Amino acid sequence: MIITNYIIQMKNSIFITSVCLLFCLTFQPLSAQKNPKNVIFLIGDGMGIAQVYAGMVANGNHLELERCTYSGFSKTYSSNKFTTDSGAGGTALACGVKTKNGMIGMNPDSVAVQSILELASKNNLSTGIVVACAVTHATPASYIAHQVNRDMYEEIATDYLKTNIDVFIGGGRKYFEDRTDNRNLTNELKAKNYQIAYTLKDVKAVKIGKLAGLLYDDQNPGIPERGTMLPDATEASINILSNNKKGFFLMVEGSQIDWAAHDNNTQQIIKEMLDFDQTIGKALDFAKKDGNTLVIITADHETGGMTILDGKFGSDMLKAAFTTKSHSGVPVPVFAYGPGAENFSGFMENISFKGKIEKLLKLKK
Ligand code: MG
Ligand code: ZN
Repeated sequence: MIITNYIIQMKNSIFITSVCLLFCLTFQPLSAQKNPKNVIFLIGDGMGIAQVYAGMVANGNHLELERCTYSGFSKTYSSNKFTTDSGAGGTALACGVKTKNGMIGMNPDSVAVQSILELASKNNLSTGIVVACAVTHATPASYIAHQVNRDMYEEIATDYLKTNIDVFIGGGRKYFEDRTDNRNLTNELKAKNYQIAYTLKDVKAVKIGKLAGLLYDDQNPGIPERGTMLPDATEASINILSNNKKGFFLMVEGSQIDWAAHDNNTQQIIKEMLDFDQTIGKALDFAKKDGNTLVIITADHETGGMTILDGKFGSDMLKAAFTTKSHSGVPVPVFAYGPGAENFSGFMENISFKGKIEKLLKLKK
C-alpha cells in the first residue's frame, strides 16, 4: 500500500515536472525576443569600473546597478583623439557617430546628425533629459543640439526650442533667460506649452504635459548640496513620460562623477556615484514593475585613471590612486536590464548604442 502510494506520487511529480518543462520550452524563447517600449539610458560621466567599485565598497559591497542582468564594455575613443571628451563621447552615444573632441551632435565634417532622442520623438514617443548639470552641458547637449563647440551654451539652449522634447530638467537657467541676444527662451517655451519649474517641488507637482525644469542659474551644485535632485527628477520624469502609451526615451546623466574625478577627490566620487546609483534604482524599480522598459547604464569615458589599492566594505576611506587629472582612454562598463538587455554584453563601440536602441524600439527613420 505504502509502495503503491509512493509510485503514484512519483508519477504525479514526473507529470508536473514534464508540464513545467514543456511550458518553459514553449514560452521562454518568446519572452526572450520581446521588444521594449521604453528605454531609460543612464550615463555616469567619467564612470569607470574603479568609480563604480568605489561606490560599491563604500556602500557595504552593494549597488542598485547589480540588479542588471547583462554587462559589457564600451570603447570610447573619438574620431580624432585616443582619449575622448564628453562632447564627442556624448555624440557617439546619442547619435552613433565618432566625431572630433568638443563637437556636439555633428560628424567630423560639421554636418548635423540625428540623435536617438530626436528619432524617438519623430516616431511619436515621449522624450526626456534629466541631468545633474546645466542642460546645455556637453552630455545632454549631444542628445538635442548640433553645434561645432560644446562651449556654445546659448546656442545649445536655443536648440532646445527647435525640438519637441517633452521633459528636460537640470541647471542652466541663465542660458535661457539672461542672454546676449536678449531673447527670453523661457517665455518662448511657455508659448510652446511648456510648464516651467524652478524648484524640485515645482517639478514634482507636474504630472502630465511638457516640462522645462531649470533648477539652477548655472551648473547644479554637487552632493550633498544637490540633495535628491537627480533621483527625484528622474522619478518625476518617468511618471510624466510613461503617460504616452506608445513609449518613451529618457536620458539621465550622473554628471559630476567626472568633476569629482578631475579633482582626484575619492570621497566626492563616492558621493556622486551613490547619488547616480540611487537614480539607477529608480529606473530599475520602474522597469521591473512595467516589464516593457529597457534600462541601459554606461559612461562616456573614464576620468582620473583611477584605481583602488585598499579599502574596507562599508567605509568611504578607500586607498585610491589616480594617474591623471583629465580623462583616460580605457573602455567603460555597460550594464543592462529588461527586454533587449542581452544586446548589451561583450565589447561594444560607443557608436553602437543608437542603432541597437533604434532597432529594439522599431523606430522608423
Ligand atoms: Mg557630462
Ligand atoms: Zn571630464
